[in-house]
Amino acid sequence: MKILGILAFKSNSQIQNNKKQNKVSFGNAIDTGAKFTIDHADILVTHRCNKGCPTCIDKWVNKYKQIISFDIIKKYFNLLDRNTVSVPSPVNKEGRTLINILGGEPTVVGEEFLNQIAENAHERNFLMWTSTNGIKTETVKRILPNFDMVHITVDKPEDAIKWADSEYLNRIDIKYPCTEKTSLEDFLRFVNITKDFPNKKMIVYNDLHRKEIKMQPELAALLDGSDVKYTVAPHGFQKYADVYGVTIKRTIQEDNHFADSQMIPRLYPNGNYNCTWENELNNPYLGEL
Ligand code: SF4
Repeated sequence: MKILGILAFKSNSQIQNNKKQNKVSFGNAIDTGAKFTIDHADILVTHRCNKGCPTCIDKWVNKYKQIISFDIIKKYFNLLDRNTVSVPSPVNKEGRTLINILGGEPTVVGEEFLNQIAENAHERNFLMWTSTNGIKTETVKRILPNFDMVHITVDKPEDAIKWADSEYLNRIDIKYPCTEKTSLEDFLRFVNITKDFPNKKMIVYNDLHRKEIKMQPELAALLDGSDVKYTVAPHGFQKYADVYGVTIKRTIQEDNHFADSQMIPRLYPNGNYNCTWENELNNPYLGEL
Protein backbone atom coordinates (compact mmCIF):
# COMPACT_ATOMS: atom_id res chain seq x y z
CA MET A 1 0.00 0.00 0.00
CA LYS A 2 2.84 2.31 0.86
CA ILE A 3 4.45 1.78 -2.52
CA LEU A 4 1.17 2.46 -4.27
CA GLY A 5 0.84 5.68 -2.27
CA ILE A 6 4.21 6.89 -3.44
CA LEU A 7 3.36 6.02 -7.02
CA ALA A 8 0.08 7.89 -6.77
CA PHE A 9 1.86 10.96 -5.46
CA LYS A 10 4.37 10.84 -8.30
CA SER A 11 1.58 10.34 -10.81
CA ASN A 12 -0.24 13.47 -9.75
CA SER A 13 2.74 15.72 -10.23
CA GLN A 14 3.65 13.95 -13.44
CA ILE A 15 0.13 14.36 -14.79
CA GLN A 16 0.51 18.11 -14.52
CA ASN A 17 3.74 17.89 -16.50
CA ASN A 18 2.12 15.63 -19.04
CA LYS A 19 -0.80 18.01 -19.45
CA LYS A 20 1.66 20.80 -20.17
CA GLN A 21 3.53 18.51 -22.55
CA ASN A 22 0.32 17.75 -24.40
CA LYS A 23 0.17 21.34 -25.53
CA VAL A 24 3.67 21.07 -26.93
CA SER A 25 4.05 17.55 -28.18
CA PHE A 26 0.51 16.57 -29.05
CA GLY A 27 -0.95 19.89 -30.21
CA ASN A 28 -4.57 20.77 -29.66
CA ALA A 29 -6.27 18.42 -32.07
CA ILE A 30 -9.11 17.73 -29.66
CA ASP A 31 -9.65 21.43 -28.95
CA THR A 32 -9.92 22.20 -32.64
CA GLY A 33 -12.08 19.18 -33.43
CA ALA A 34 -9.35 17.60 -35.55
CA LYS A 35 -8.61 13.91 -35.14
CA PHE A 36 -5.38 12.19 -34.19
CA THR A 37 -3.93 9.86 -36.77
CA ILE A 38 -3.01 6.54 -35.22
CA ASP A 39 -1.29 3.41 -36.47
CA HIS A 40 -3.12 1.16 -34.02
CA ALA A 41 -4.14 1.17 -30.36
CA ASP A 42 -2.76 -1.18 -27.71
CA ILE A 43 -4.65 -2.53 -24.74
CA LEU A 44 -2.64 -4.20 -21.98
CA VAL A 45 -5.30 -6.35 -20.37
CA THR A 46 -3.01 -7.42 -17.53
CA HIS A 47 0.62 -7.45 -16.43
CA ARG A 48 0.32 -11.09 -15.38
CA CYS A 49 2.37 -13.54 -17.38
CA ASN A 50 3.01 -17.29 -17.31
CA LYS A 51 6.56 -16.94 -18.62
CA GLY A 52 9.70 -15.08 -17.55
CA CYS A 53 11.60 -13.75 -20.55
CA PRO A 54 14.78 -11.85 -19.61
CA THR A 55 14.15 -9.38 -22.43
CA CYS A 56 10.53 -8.57 -21.46
CA ILE A 57 9.63 -4.98 -22.35
CA ASP A 58 6.76 -4.83 -19.83
CA LYS A 59 8.56 -3.47 -16.81
CA TRP A 60 5.51 -4.12 -14.60
CA VAL A 61 5.24 -7.79 -15.58
CA ASN A 62 3.90 -9.86 -12.66
CA LYS A 63 4.42 -6.90 -10.31
CA TYR A 64 0.75 -5.97 -10.55
CA LYS A 65 -2.00 -8.59 -10.75
CA GLN A 66 -5.00 -6.53 -11.76
CA ILE A 67 -7.02 -7.22 -14.90
CA ILE A 68 -8.52 -4.37 -16.86
CA SER A 69 -12.27 -3.89 -16.73
CA PHE A 70 -14.54 -4.27 -19.75
CA ASP A 71 -16.13 -0.95 -18.85
CA ILE A 72 -12.82 0.91 -19.26
CA ILE A 73 -12.19 -0.85 -22.55
CA LYS A 74 -15.56 0.30 -23.90
CA LYS A 75 -14.78 3.89 -22.88
CA TYR A 76 -11.42 3.63 -24.65
CA PHE A 77 -13.16 2.28 -27.76
CA ASN A 78 -15.55 5.26 -27.64
CA LEU A 79 -12.59 7.62 -27.43
CA LEU A 80 -10.84 5.99 -30.38
CA ASP A 81 -14.05 6.08 -32.38
CA ARG A 82 -14.59 9.78 -31.69
CA ASN A 83 -11.09 11.19 -31.79
CA THR A 84 -8.87 9.14 -34.08
CA VAL A 85 -8.45 8.13 -37.70
CA SER A 86 -6.24 5.22 -38.69
CA VAL A 87 -3.58 5.29 -41.32
CA PRO A 88 -4.09 2.56 -43.96
CA SER A 89 -1.26 0.06 -44.30
CA PRO A 90 -0.63 -3.22 -46.14
CA VAL A 91 -2.09 -5.10 -43.14
CA ASN A 92 -4.99 -2.67 -42.71
CA LYS A 93 -5.87 -1.56 -46.22
CA GLU A 94 -9.17 0.12 -45.30
CA GLY A 95 -7.67 2.09 -42.41
CA ARG A 96 -9.99 0.50 -39.83
CA THR A 97 -9.27 1.11 -36.15
CA LEU A 98 -6.86 -1.67 -35.27
CA ILE A 99 -6.76 -2.90 -31.66
CA ASN A 100 -3.87 -5.01 -30.41
CA ILE A 101 -4.48 -6.87 -27.14
CA LEU A 102 -1.27 -7.24 -25.15
CA GLY A 103 -0.03 -8.05 -21.65
CA GLY A 104 1.77 -9.38 -19.75
CA GLU A 105 0.32 -12.43 -21.40
CA PRO A 106 -3.23 -11.72 -22.68
CA THR A 107 -4.42 -15.34 -22.58
CA VAL A 108 -4.17 -15.50 -18.78
CA VAL A 109 -7.38 -13.42 -18.59
CA GLY A 110 -9.25 -16.28 -20.30
CA GLU A 111 -10.95 -16.76 -23.63
CA GLU A 112 -14.36 -15.58 -22.42
CA PHE A 113 -13.11 -12.09 -21.64
CA LEU A 114 -10.97 -11.89 -24.79
CA ASN A 115 -13.87 -12.99 -26.97
CA GLN A 116 -16.15 -10.45 -25.26
CA ILE A 117 -13.69 -7.66 -26.13
CA ALA A 118 -13.39 -8.92 -29.71
CA GLU A 119 -17.16 -9.06 -30.14
CA ASN A 120 -17.58 -5.46 -28.98
CA ALA A 121 -14.71 -4.31 -31.22
CA HIS A 122 -16.17 -6.03 -34.26
CA GLU A 123 -19.57 -4.40 -33.64
CA ARG A 124 -17.68 -1.13 -34.15
CA ASN A 125 -15.95 -2.43 -37.30
CA PHE A 126 -12.57 -2.46 -35.51
CA LEU A 127 -9.89 -4.97 -36.42
CA MET A 128 -8.81 -7.21 -33.53
CA TRP A 129 -5.32 -8.53 -33.02
CA THR A 130 -3.54 -10.04 -30.07
CA SER A 131 0.01 -11.15 -29.29
CA THR A 132 0.64 -14.25 -27.23
CA ASN A 133 3.46 -16.53 -26.16
CA GLY A 134 1.19 -19.44 -27.19
CA ILE A 135 1.72 -21.40 -23.96
CA LYS A 136 -2.04 -21.61 -23.28
CA THR A 137 -2.67 -23.54 -26.48
CA GLU A 138 -6.35 -24.32 -25.85
CA THR A 139 -7.17 -20.70 -25.02
CA VAL A 140 -5.49 -19.54 -28.22
CA LYS A 141 -7.47 -22.11 -30.21
CA ARG A 142 -10.72 -20.83 -28.70
CA ILE A 143 -10.04 -17.16 -29.48
CA LEU A 144 -8.80 -17.72 -33.04
CA PRO A 145 -12.33 -17.76 -34.56
CA ASN A 146 -12.99 -14.30 -33.07
CA PHE A 147 -9.73 -12.49 -33.79
CA ASP A 148 -8.52 -11.16 -37.13
CA MET A 149 -4.91 -11.98 -36.32
CA VAL A 150 -3.17 -13.77 -33.46
CA HIS A 151 0.57 -13.19 -33.28
CA ILE A 152 2.25 -16.17 -31.65
CA THR A 153 5.86 -15.80 -30.58
CA VAL A 154 7.91 -19.00 -30.60
CA ASP A 155 11.24 -19.56 -28.82
CA LYS A 156 12.51 -21.96 -31.44
CA PRO A 157 11.37 -22.89 -34.98
CA GLU A 158 10.05 -26.29 -33.86
CA ASP A 159 7.49 -24.60 -31.57
CA ALA A 160 5.60 -23.50 -34.69
CA ILE A 161 4.74 -27.10 -35.61
CA LYS A 162 1.82 -27.39 -33.18
CA TRP A 163 -0.05 -24.63 -35.05
CA ALA A 164 0.46 -26.07 -38.54
CA ASP A 165 -2.86 -27.94 -38.71
CA SER A 166 -5.02 -25.05 -37.44
CA GLU A 167 -8.14 -24.40 -39.49
CA TYR A 168 -7.44 -20.71 -38.85
CA LEU A 169 -3.89 -20.75 -40.17
CA ASN A 170 -4.55 -17.55 -42.15
CA ARG A 171 -5.24 -15.77 -38.84
CA ILE A 172 -1.97 -16.88 -37.25
CA ASP A 173 1.19 -14.82 -37.54
CA ILE A 174 4.15 -16.83 -36.26
CA LYS A 175 6.86 -14.59 -34.84
CA TYR A 176 10.39 -15.82 -34.26
CA PRO A 177 12.55 -13.31 -32.38
CA CYS A 178 16.11 -12.98 -33.60
CA THR A 179 18.49 -12.95 -30.63
CA GLU A 180 22.26 -12.57 -30.59
CA LYS A 181 22.43 -16.38 -30.58
CA THR A 182 20.13 -17.00 -33.57
CA SER A 183 22.18 -18.61 -36.32
CA LEU A 184 21.66 -18.72 -40.06
CA GLU A 185 20.78 -22.42 -39.65
CA ASP A 186 18.06 -21.52 -37.10
CA PHE A 187 16.56 -19.06 -39.55
CA LEU A 188 16.64 -21.58 -42.40
CA ARG A 189 14.92 -24.18 -40.19
CA PHE A 190 12.24 -21.59 -39.42
CA VAL A 191 11.82 -20.97 -43.18
CA ASN A 192 11.38 -24.69 -43.78
CA ILE A 193 9.05 -25.45 -40.83
CA THR A 194 6.73 -22.53 -41.58
CA LYS A 195 6.60 -22.97 -45.37
CA ASP A 196 2.80 -23.53 -45.29
CA PHE A 197 2.09 -20.61 -42.94
CA PRO A 198 0.80 -17.56 -44.84
CA ASN A 199 2.09 -15.17 -42.14
CA LYS A 200 5.50 -15.56 -40.55
CA LYS A 201 8.03 -13.08 -39.30
CA MET A 202 11.44 -12.86 -37.84
CA ILE A 203 11.71 -9.82 -35.60
CA VAL A 204 15.13 -8.31 -35.10
CA TYR A 205 14.71 -6.59 -31.76
CA ASN A 206 16.59 -3.72 -30.19
CA ASP A 207 18.53 -4.01 -26.97
CA LEU A 208 17.65 -2.09 -23.82
CA HIS A 209 19.49 0.94 -25.25
CA ARG A 210 17.24 0.82 -28.30
CA LYS A 211 20.05 -0.24 -30.58
CA GLU A 212 19.54 -3.22 -32.84
CA ILE A 213 20.96 -6.41 -31.33
CA LYS A 214 24.17 -7.76 -32.80
CA MET A 215 23.28 -10.60 -35.13
CA GLN A 216 25.39 -13.65 -35.91
CA PRO A 217 27.66 -12.60 -38.84
CA GLU A 218 26.26 -15.13 -41.38
CA LEU A 219 22.68 -14.16 -40.61
CA ALA A 220 23.55 -10.44 -40.71
CA ALA A 221 25.22 -10.97 -44.09
CA LEU A 222 21.99 -12.48 -45.43
CA LEU A 223 19.64 -9.85 -43.96
CA ASP A 224 21.88 -6.92 -44.87
CA GLY A 225 22.71 -8.31 -48.32
CA SER A 226 22.39 -5.99 -51.29
CA ASP A 227 19.62 -8.10 -52.84
CA VAL A 228 17.35 -7.73 -49.77
CA LYS A 229 15.04 -4.77 -50.34
CA TYR A 230 13.42 -3.17 -47.30
CA THR A 231 10.29 -1.04 -47.37
CA VAL A 232 9.48 1.44 -44.63
CA ALA A 233 6.17 1.14 -42.77
CA PRO A 234 3.75 4.11 -43.11
CA HIS A 235 4.51 5.21 -39.53
CA GLY A 236 8.20 5.41 -40.44
CA PHE A 237 9.59 3.51 -37.48
CA GLN A 238 10.13 0.05 -38.96
CA LYS A 239 11.30 -1.54 -42.17
CA TYR A 240 10.30 -4.85 -43.72
CA ALA A 241 11.78 -7.25 -46.24
CA ASP A 242 10.84 -10.64 -47.58
CA VAL A 243 13.60 -13.22 -47.21
CA TYR A 244 12.72 -16.75 -48.40
CA GLY A 245 9.03 -16.02 -47.74
CA VAL A 246 9.59 -14.81 -44.16
CA THR A 247 8.91 -11.16 -43.34
CA ILE A 248 11.91 -9.61 -41.64
CA LYS A 249 10.89 -6.75 -39.34
CA ARG A 250 13.48 -4.29 -38.07
CA THR A 251 13.23 -1.04 -36.14
CA ILE A 252 14.94 1.84 -37.90
CA GLN A 253 14.80 4.66 -35.37
CA GLU A 254 16.43 4.69 -31.99
CA ASP A 255 15.69 8.03 -30.32
CA ASN A 256 12.17 8.66 -31.53
CA HIS A 257 10.93 5.18 -30.82
CA PHE A 258 7.87 3.35 -32.17
CA ALA A 259 7.00 2.26 -28.64
CA ASP A 260 6.69 5.91 -27.56
CA SER A 261 4.71 7.20 -30.48
CA GLN A 262 1.46 9.09 -30.11
CA MET A 263 0.37 7.03 -33.12
CA ILE A 264 -0.03 4.13 -30.68
CA PRO A 265 -2.21 5.05 -27.71
CA ARG A 266 -1.79 2.43 -25.00
CA LEU A 267 -4.36 1.53 -22.34
CA TYR A 268 -3.00 -0.02 -19.14
CA PRO A 269 -4.62 -2.45 -16.67
CA ASN A 270 -5.07 0.40 -14.17
CA GLY A 271 -7.27 2.32 -16.63
CA ASN A 272 -4.72 5.00 -17.48
CA TYR A 273 -3.60 5.49 -21.03
CA ASN A 274 -0.72 7.19 -22.76
CA CYS A 275 1.72 6.53 -25.54
CA THR A 276 4.80 5.10 -23.89
CA TRP A 277 6.10 1.82 -22.51
CA GLU A 278 8.10 3.78 -19.95
CA ASN A 279 5.27 4.33 -17.50
CA GLU A 280 1.56 3.98 -16.85
CA LEU A 281 0.90 7.60 -16.04
CA ASN A 282 -2.28 9.19 -17.15
CA ASN A 283 -1.70 11.22 -20.28
CA PRO A 284 -5.15 11.74 -21.75
CA TYR A 285 -4.11 13.33 -25.01
CA LEU A 286 -7.07 11.85 -26.90
CA GLY A 287 -9.52 13.20 -24.33
CA GLU A 288 -10.77 11.88 -20.99
CA LEU A 289 -11.98 8.30 -20.80
S1 SF4 B 1 5.92 -13.81 -22.62
FE1 SF4 B 1 5.83 -11.64 -23.12
S2 SF4 B 1 4.95 -10.63 -21.30
FE2 SF4 B 1 5.62 -12.69 -20.69
S3 SF4 B 1 7.69 -12.41 -19.87
FE3 SF4 B 1 7.90 -12.96 -22.05
S4 SF4 B 1 7.99 -11.00 -23.14
FE4 SF4 B 1 7.18 -10.58 -21.08
